[in-house]
Amino acid sequence: MALLQIAEPGQSTLPHEHKTAVGIDLGTTNSLVATVQSGLPTIIKDANGKSLIPSIVYYGQNNIKVGHDALSYLSTDAKNTIVSVKRFMGHTKSDIQYRESLPYAFDDHSDDIQIKTEQGLKHPIEISSDILKKLKDLAEVSLCGEITGAVITVPAYFDDAQRQATKDAAKLAGLNVLRLINEPTAAAVAYGLDQKKEGTFVIYDLGGGTFDVSILKLHKGIFEVLATNGHPRLGGDDFDQAIVELIKHDNQIAHLSHEDKRALITHAKCLKEKLTNDASAKTVIKLAGGQEISFSLDRDTFFKLTHDLVQKTIQPIRRALNDAQLSIDSIDGIVMVGGATRMMHIQSEIKNFFKKDLLNDLNPDEVVALGAARQAHTLAGNKSDQDLLLLDVTPLSLGVETMGGLVEKIIHRNSTIPIAKAQEFTTYKDGQTAMSIHVLQGERERVSDCRSLANFTLTDIPPMVAGAAKIRVTFQIDADGLLSVAAKELSTNKETSITVKPSYGLSEDQISNMLKQSFEKADEDKKIRALSEAKIEGEQIIIAVRNALDKNGNKLLTQEEITAIQSAIQRLLSALSSDNSDLITEHTKDLNTLTESFAARLMDESVSHALRGKSIDKVNF
Ligand code: ADP
Ligand code: MG
Repeated sequence: MALLQIAEPGQSTLPHEHKTAVGIDLGTTNSLVATVQSGLPTIIKDANGKSLIPSIVYYGQNNIKVGHDALSYLSTDAKNTIVSVKRFMGHTKSDIQYRESLPYAFDDHSDDIQIKTEQGLKHPIEISSDILKKLKDLAEVSLCGEITGAVITVPAYFDDAQRQATKDAAKLAGLNVLRLINEPTAAAVAYGLDQKKEGTFVIYDLGGGTFDVSILKLHKGIFEVLATNGHPRLGGDDFDQAIVELIKHDNQIAHLSHEDKRALITHAKCLKEKLTNDASAKTVIKLAGGQEISFSLDRDTFFKLTHDLVQKTIQPIRRALNDAQLSIDSIDGIVMVGGATRMMHIQSEIKNFFKKDLLNDLNPDEVVALGAARQAHTLAGNKSDQDLLLLDVTPLSLGVETMGGLVEKIIHRNSTIPIAKAQEFTTYKDGQTAMSIHVLQGERERVSDCRSLANFTLTDIPPMVAGAAKIRVTFQIDADGLLSVAAKELSTNKETSITVKPSYGLSEDQISNMLKQSFEKADEDKKIRALSEAKIEGEQIIIAVRNALDKNGNKLLTQEEITAIQSAIQRLLSALSSDNSDLITEHTKDLNTLTESFAARLMDESVSHALRGKSIDKVNF
């Protein structure tokens, strides 16, 4: 979801009213918790002074271990040691195609992801909640008290299912979720970019196993996600793997046991991280069989070895720039996020690409949590005049189906949420007592081109002539992106409502596809809309005129007038069978003009007869 910011006219809270809220970066590889202390966002460290908590949970027969304590089980009990659970969030088993390559035993009974562990079946939401619990405990010990709420970050491309799953995990961990915000936006906030007037920023995030690039535009205090791109399986782990392959090659090792493989990866990671500070690094690896491998690596060799991996991040940047229709020159700042961006060749490559200095003076693996902490601080009520409150925007427009299979948009895409908007609709037929409300999401004009979200019927509309009933349809989206729709008949105040999840299950790809199509098809859609509206208007006037002729024609009109009107109806009918909206509009106008005086005479007659609406038919359109 795109994010945007609004300034809150906040007053500073009194010191004794200070509420402790935390920001949490729930990462694929590592997770962190941060808070604002004495006005400064600060990472909360564990008893050993470590800020990064590995996102790993071990489910043993007698105990559950999270973070550093779970690390050692990766090599001894991989089946019960869950890593990268973030990849499973909001997904079903069929979404995870690489399941076979994982060491876990999945439950076969449903398409829901459930991992068989020594502690029973574990759902990704539960596993994430165990990580969140660890962070919550850490914060509470460090801050000596309960925390009032948390802001949790999610990737910008996370859809509603993934966001909802994250929120559920937080609730399960006993956290009060103040808001979910996008990781790139949190990083931008950590660098104070939200304090600028405007600008376009690239957030380059290379973590342990994922690469995300986002382009954010700040305009009039609003942060909007212009484009996201990346690589779901590219990160620091691949650099470790390249070193592992080199060690295997140099020492002519063909096969490794699972434990030895893990040991090699751990050593490779160490070497890689050392090379960030030193020109060369050395290690001695003891394999299970007693063999000892002594290995040293220098920076140049490492850079050459992994040059292709660095290059692999360039293509997604180009695609994101292309999607946002931006050139490199229009980028005002590049924020480096993710532990893997510490590697010097990445820094120099990206700097070269953008021909600009990078924003990299904060710890790249901490920036997301720091930005989240700032937002949590504001949301918890510790507002200051400079603070800004981040709000989400809806990624796609929401509306209802109207006559002719068209969509009337009620909330437009990129509207800030929470939001409530209402629009009045009316009945199509005399005596209509029910109206079906079809809720849709998408940018296109036709129902068939949008995504159907919900359908419900408002009943007991008092029978009236077509167009006399007033039905107010209200769309409301709360701060977490949940939509509810209510329809109310205004003369009786009878109301029906429904709660829907707006983009549940829609991937970012589907969203951008739908947007692309709407831009490409805008012209075609306009024509279709014009034709459909012309047809409805034409058909409605024919129904109305025929009704009036049946009831009062002989009383109020001469035979000649009746014949003239009937042939105008025939001309309009034949125009209606064409797909020519101009022709239909022309003949509709003719019939309108021809019946003007008839309508005036009718007005003089009492219309109460018709208003009583005797034909009561339930219509579902
Ligand atoms: P995620 O967002 O996926 O949870 P992080 O942002 O914590 O991950 O990044 C983890 C990656 O960063 C790991 O591959 C780790 O080895 C790498 N990393 C951390 N510190 C360094 C360093 N000093 N030099 C090189 N890579 C590093
Ligand atoms: Mg991260």
